[in-house]
Amino acid sequence: MKNRNIILALVIPAVLSCAAAAPKVIAHRGYWDAPGSAENSIRSLVKADSIGCYGSEFDVWMTKDGQLVIHHDAAINGVSIEGNTADVVRREKLPNGETIPTLDEYLRAAQPLNIRLVLEMKPHDSRSREFAAVKKVLELVKQYGLEERTDYISFSPEAFRNFINLAPKGTKVYYLCKDYIPAQISFMGGAGIDYEMNNMRKHAEWIEQCHDLGLEVNIWTVSDPDNISWCIDHGADYITTNAPELVQKMIVNRPSDQLAAEEEAARKE
Ligand code: MG
Repeated sequence: MKNRNIILALVIPAVLSCAAAAPKVIAHRGYWDAPGSAENSIRSLVKADSIGCYGSEFDVWMTKDGQLVIHHDAAINGVSIEGNTADVVRREKLPNGETIPTLDEYLRAAQPLNIRLVLEMKPHDSRSREFAAVKKVLELVKQYGLEERTDYISFSPEAFRNFINLAPKGTKVYYLCKDYIPAQISFMGGAGIDYEMNNMRKHAEWIEQCHDLGLEVNIWTVSDPDNISWCIDHGADYITTNAPELVQKMIVNRPSDQLAAEEEAARKE
């Protein structure tokens, strides 16, 4: 018992220093591992909502003729999205049989759901095309009345800056590439960092730096128990994952010591 008390005395202050509310779960490219689903499909959005995920992440490209579609890679089944018109791109199917969705279809499907949208703008071939894509995204999100339910992320520093400048005040925009430290993100007006798991393990101090600056921390793509535990223990605000149900279970079952530390931290806020 004495040893346990000594361990708790050592561990609780360390946990308290980064204790916050439990992380929120974001399904990476939707809940694509569910029956009948596929990455970036409408079904993956609906399934992520059905299990109570906080958010569903998805990727946006603009076709040659200016239509916005949802897909991760620059090409679908070998057909370049930026290099072809929408009527050509839209002949392509996802592995679950769905036609590659347009952003319009995706937002329409999202409207009656509760889930938050985490929209990733892919870096486009030219800055002017990417700028046009950002403007079209913002117009469409507004048209569907989803401005308060949509966050933006990008590896493109230009898209990051453009969303900050053009989206309504209070919109959350996160940067995906590790080349900006938290102070730079804060200076630019970003809501926080959305960085890869291994980079965050190398820079755990960024989490506290972000929180001190009023920024949030999202970590991707966190799908195995060891990394999920690390994110929970280190106070990540969001976990972007390919295994949303596992993350949800691990958050619910997190150690009682940590729950106590979180409650204590919440009391002090
Ligand atoms: Mg993505």
